Amino acid sequence: SAIVQLQQTTRSYGSGEAMVKAVDGVDLVIPKGAFLALTGPSGSGKSTCLNLIGAIDAPSSGKVIVDGVDLSTLNARQMTEFRKERIGFIFQEFNLIPVLTVHENVQLPLQIKGGLSRTQIAELVDPVLERVGLKHLAHRLPRQLSGGQQQRVAIARALVKKPAVLLADEPTANLDSHTAREILGLMKELNASFGTTFIFSSHDPLVMEYATRLVRLRDGKVIGIEERG
Ligand code: ADP
Ligand code: ADP
Repeated sequence: SAIVQLQQTTRSYGSGEAMVKAVDGVDLVIPKGAFLALTGPSGSGKSTCLNLIGAIDAPSSGKVIVDGVDLSTLNARQMTEFRKERIGFIFQEFNLIPVLTVHENVQLPLQIKGGLSRTQIAELVDPVLERVGLKHLAHRLPRQLSGGQQQRVAIARALVKKPAVLLADEPTANLDSHTAREILGLMKELNASFGTTFIFSSHDPLVMEYATRLVRLRDGKVIGIEERG
């Protein structure tokens, strides 16, 4: 079944002569459990697509349906709620909070979400830290970790909410190719064991090697879809 559907989705910026269609009439169906890469040159609309799927941005026209919810019917407050509940984000720059430990960074989304006791939070955080191989580093600060370890923290933080969709904007851009492979391997393992849908933007050829589906964008339009192994 589909976890994400874009239907004639357009996001334009500016108006008149200066108007840019960052995403231009895209139709896309992403099945649950996909490990999908959005690829294409800089400015082709990859980040805008991720922002639309992640309820960070709203389409100018057309629909964005994620986990059964038509995001175009939500107001700003409902979009924030939806994002907190159902979406996990991973960034190129890791975006960890420098003054918080690994454990504190990972539990933050649960604290923001609210309604959980200390014990319940620990019961959710500990297995995820174990899963990404960081249990022994739980009390370190981000600056005491390598880039690959920091990205593992970001992955754990995104996963701890058990999101419907995990979105990653150029997740390997700041990693050497050996570490990038490790991180992609970990994500694929998590994809296989939790069934979480992963959607990446990337122009890293490595990502394309791991992706099971490749969507090529150009000037905001889908110009090709490839299925792989
Ligand atoms: P990619 O992620 O593939 O590099 P983006 O989605 O960031 O592409 O951008 C697609 C197009 O939309 C680009 O031409 C970009 O300049 C434009 N764009 C993106 N965000 C904005 C914005 N907030 N304001 C104006 N133009 C934007
Ligand atoms: P707000 O819109 O309330 O100011 P943000 O846009 O900063 O909040 O983030 C909204 C929610 O998205 C956060 O509460 C958090 O649950 C989730 N989120 C943001 N960044 C990340 C991240 N790097 N990893 C996991 N979840 C994140």
